[in-house]
Amino acid sequence: MGKSKTKSFQTETKQLLQLMIHSLYSNKEIFLRELISNASDALDKLRFKSISSSKLASLSDDLKIKVIVDEENKTLTISDNGIGMSEEEIIENIGTIARSGTAEFLGKLTGDKKKDSNLIGQFGVGFYSVFMIAEKVQVLSKSAQKKSSQPILWESSGEDKYKLTEVEKKSHGTDIIIYLSEENHDFANKQRIGFLVNKYSQYINFPIYLSNIDEEEEVINETDALWLKPKRSIKEDEYNEFYKFISFDQDDPLLTIHNKVEGKQEYSNLLYIPKKPPFDLWNRESPRGIKLYIQRVFIMDDAVHFLPLYLRFIRGVIDSSDLPLNVSREILQDHPLVDSIKKALTKRVIDALKKLKDNDINAYKEFWKEYGLVLKEGPAEDFEHKEAIAELLLFATSNKETHEVDQTLDDYISRMPSDQKDIYYCVADTFEGALNSPHLESLKSKNTEVLLLTDRIDEWLMSTLFEFKGKSFINVAKTSNETEEKPKTTKDQNELLTKVADHLGERVSEVLPSSRLKDSACCLVLQSNEPGIQLRKILEAAGQKMGDAVPIFELNMKHKLIKKLSKIDGKDFKAFVDFLYDYAVIAEGGSPKDPSKYLRQLDKYLS
Ligand code: ADP
Repeated sequence: MGKSKTKSFQTETKQLLQLMIHSLYSNKEIFLRELISNASDALDKLRFKSISSSKLASLSDDLKIKVIVDEENKTLTISDNGIGMSEEEIIENIGTIARSGTAEFLGKLTGDKKKDSNLIGQFGVGFYSVFMIAEKVQVLSKSAQKKSSQPILWESSGEDKYKLTEVEKKSHGTDIIIYLSEENHDFANKQRIGFLVNKYSQYINFPIYLSNIDEEEEVINETDALWLKPKRSIKEDEYNEFYKFISFDQDDPLLTIHNKVEGKQEYSNLLYIPKKPPFDLWNRESPRGIKLYIQRVFIMDDAVHFLPLYLRFIRGVIDSSDLPLNVSREILQDHPLVDSIKKALTKRVIDALKKLKDNDINAYKEFWKEYGLVLKEGPAEDFEHKEAIAELLLFATSNKETHEVDQTLDDYISRMPSDQKDIYYCVADTFEGALNSPHLESLKSKNTEVLLLTDRIDEWLMSTLFEFKGKSFINVAKTSNETEEKPKTTKDQNELLTKVADHLGERVSEVLPSSRLKDSACCLVLQSNEPGIQLRKILEAAGQKMGDAVPIFELNMKHKLIKKLSKIDGKDFKAFVDFLYDYAVIAEGGSPKDPSKYLRQLDKYLS
């Protein structure tokens, strides 16, 4: 052996190690999945690099993983003939946790051991999980790329230090030698390890050999890529197991979409919709996308180019026969083949969802609960599939008193009376706010159904949708393009309207008699091109200065309060108009500029 040195783990690494050893032991067996997956990654890397380097080409012939059990000495060895690591790489990869993901990982821990150990896979803090079962671990590695670099032995007992020693190793690749801690001696059992490899690593694309020490090794996994097999020959169970293998999810998927496309372009796709979205669905920076293979060679994880952003919850694999093996993310960016695959995959996912909706509306409603908001981004992002996505949207409507969000636009249209041309919708912060909005009053009395929308994104969604199957969308809180019939007014009433307008000044654009109100005294109506309250909130949150809206103030001339207003004057008149204006602001889901003034006024009127 050559010279040795001892180094300390980084603080975060120490924290993580402590956590592994002391709290996450409920699902210890996953260490094997993590180490085999690292070995498989190392083989993938070597195979990928050998495409462009003739020097490495000869090294990538017989890629494999070996698991050796020593029942007597209570050790396990997992070895691969992959890319290997130089001394610097070992320090970098195993001694430190460079990725910012670790802090996030530590922050996400729930205390629920089962959930937490699932997180290990998602965050890729995999290697350290070995310390759940080991009292000592050795990593013996030789780089395939840096021929001159000295093989290195890394050793640690998972406390705060590790030791590095220069050693001899004939072949490139990495051996992980695990010295099982006493309470985990039962892992030194070939049968048990064979069972675990089958449970967690069945779909590794390289042969995994298992043996006792000094015993002949045998392959224990199936390496045929599942997605390349004919659909007929695959059982649902196999699809589900493969899903769990790539996603680290414990549940079966909601939908599986498998196609083998031949002809002008050849590729296979095996896509899944998880029952529950990933925890980082709303984090724009977090990795997403599917695994890309080209002619069965693994190219990259998280290939984002094959699906639009609004389908970012899809997991799975695509394997192309036509893309060049040396693709990079940049090449994928504007490759015409990628574009046409993306279109086809998008259509397949939309079709699968439509089928689910038509055949099993309850399952679809579950899907909608989890993913409806993401799907609502679709029409703006994907003009080509706008109408198809619109068919997938679910709404609550004024037709039913329940909060259920379960009506499609087609359902709505099927109930439209023949003389109704447009689709009406109302946006508010809550279901009740929308259902009881003053803007619905006269529509309700005519039994006209209105879609009730309560998501932040809705106003924006409806304005991008614009129309559906030839029917326009009408926001009931805005003036419509057609000239609305205004009720006839007397001379006295006109004087009142002018007087109100004079007092409100620049706060309103006009004061008009209302035809939309039945029970409320007044309301605010926006011009059709002005953003509503919800859209304003979004734009303001995004940092846009909005300025004040200048709505139309509509009065219900038949209402008691308005009749009262016509009988007062001076200071009292002005205070009452201010009060009515705030009253209308509140009905829109807004808040008065000076809430305490509004309440003082209300006190006065009540007493
Ligand atoms: P992850 O695999 O998610 O990156 P790990 O903690 O499991 O996280 O591994 C850290 C890094 O150590 C890997 O990214 C890889 O660079 C390196 N590594 C681990 N195992 C091997 C191996 N068998 N061969 C080569 N490199 C490895």
